[in-house]
Amino acid sequence: MSWQQRIEQQLAQRRADDSFRVRQANERGSGRLLISNGRRYLNFSSNDYLGLSLHPGIIRAWQKGAEQYGVGSGGSGHVTGYSRAHQQLEEALSGWLGYPRALLFISGFAANQAVITALAQKQDRILADRLSHASLLEAAMLSPAQLRRFAHNDVRALEKLLAAACEGQQLVITEGVFSMDGDQAPLGAIAAAARARGGWLLVDDAHGIGVAGEEGRGSCHQLRVKPDLLIVTFGKAFGVSGAAVLCSDEVADYLLQFARHLIYSTAMPPAQACALSAALEAIRHGDEQRARLRDNIAAFRRGAARLPLGLIDSQTAIQPLIVGENARTLGLAARLRERGFWLTAIRPPTVPVGSARLRVTLTAEHTREDVDALLEALHDETRE
Ligand SMILES: *Cc1c(COP(=O)(O)O)cnc(C)c1O
Repeated sequence: MSWQQRIEQQLAQRRADDSFRVRQANERGSGRLLISNGRRYLNFSSNDYLGLSLHPGIIRAWQKGAEQYGVGSGGSGHVTGYSRAHQQLEEALSGWLGYPRALLFISGFAANQAVITALAQKQDRILADRLSHASLLEAAMLSPAQLRRFAHNDVRALEKLLAAACEGQQLVITEGVFSMDGDQAPLGAIAAAARARGGWLLVDDAHGIGVAGEEGRGSCHQLRVKPDLLIVTFGKAFGVSGAAVLCSDEVADYLLQFARHLIYSTAMPPAQACALSAALEAIRHGDEQRARLRDNIAAFRRGAARLPLGLIDSQTAIQPLIVGENARTLGLAARLRERGFWLTAIRPPTVPVGSARLRVTLTAEHTREDVDALLEALHDETRE
C-alpha cells in the first residue's frame, strides 16, 4: 500500500465511524460567549474555568512584558531565552505550591513528555491510570521503560502491579482531576501505595490547579498529598498556556541536563511569563470566582440528574453527559448548537467505544440563567 492509499484508507475509516475531526475558526473561542461566523453562543466547552483568558490585568501584563522584553524569548533557556520574568514566575510557583523548584515548559504536553522521557530508563516500570491523558501515556510509551496501566482509580490494582518484581525504579502516574470524566483520583491512597514500594508519584493536575484547594493550589494541596513530581498547566484555569513541573532541587537540576524539551526548544516568551505571574495573583485572590463556579456545578448537577443521559459522579467543572453512540452524540451537539449552545461531542478514541459524550464544562463566568437555559435545552432535545 502506498503512502497515499494508506492515508486515504485511514481517513475513510474515520468518516465511516463518525469520528472524523474538523476544526472551526472562531472569532472568539474562550470566555462565556463564543463567537463563530458572527453568531454568539453560550460557551460550555472551554477550560477557562475562572474566565482569566479575558482578564484585563493579565492582558496588560502581557502587553507590558512584550514592550519590555520583546515578543519572543530569542532562544532556548540554556542559551539566552531565560529571563527575569521566567525566574520570577518559577519562584512564585514553587513558593505557592511548597516545592523547592519549578521549571517552565511551553505546554503540558511538552512537560509530560520531557519529564517522563528524561527520568524513565530501560529497567524501570511506569504504572499509569488507564484514563491518563494522552500526553502522559504517549510519553510513557516513548520512554524505554515498561508501561503498565491500572484500572481507573483502582488502588488495589495499582498495589498488585507495584508488588511485582522490578529491577529498576517504579513511577506511578495519575491526574488530580480526569479530563474526560471530571472525577478525582484518590491521591492519598495512591501516594501511600507508591511510597510503600519505594516508587515515585507524578500527578498531572491540569484541571485541578487554580480551581481546587485553598487559593486554588490544586488537588494535591486539597488532599494534603505531595507528589514527587507535580505537573501544572496554564491553558486551563490560568487562561493562558504553558506548564510547569514542581520538584526537588536535584530533579530540577537533572531535568535541566537531560530534558530535551528544555535544551532544544525555544523558551516561552518572557511576556507570557509576565502574564502568567499576573494570572497567578488573580488565582490566589480568586475565591469569589471559585465560589461562583461551585454554585454553577451544583445547579447543573441538580438539573442534569433528571435528564435521560448518563451523569458521571464528578464534583468538578467537567460534567460529561454520556450519550453512547457517536452519531446520536453528534446530532445532539448539532441541535444544541442551533439553539445557541456550544458543547463538544467527545468520541472514541478519546473515550471508550460506546461512551461518546457531551462534555459540559462550567466556568465562573456562566450565570445561573446560562446554566438553567442549557438544562432546559438538554431537556427538550432528549425528550422522546
Ligand atoms: C490539557 C491537558 C494536558 C496538556 O496541556 P497543554 O498545556 O494543553 O499541552 C496535559 N494533561 C492533562 C491532564 C490535560 O488535561
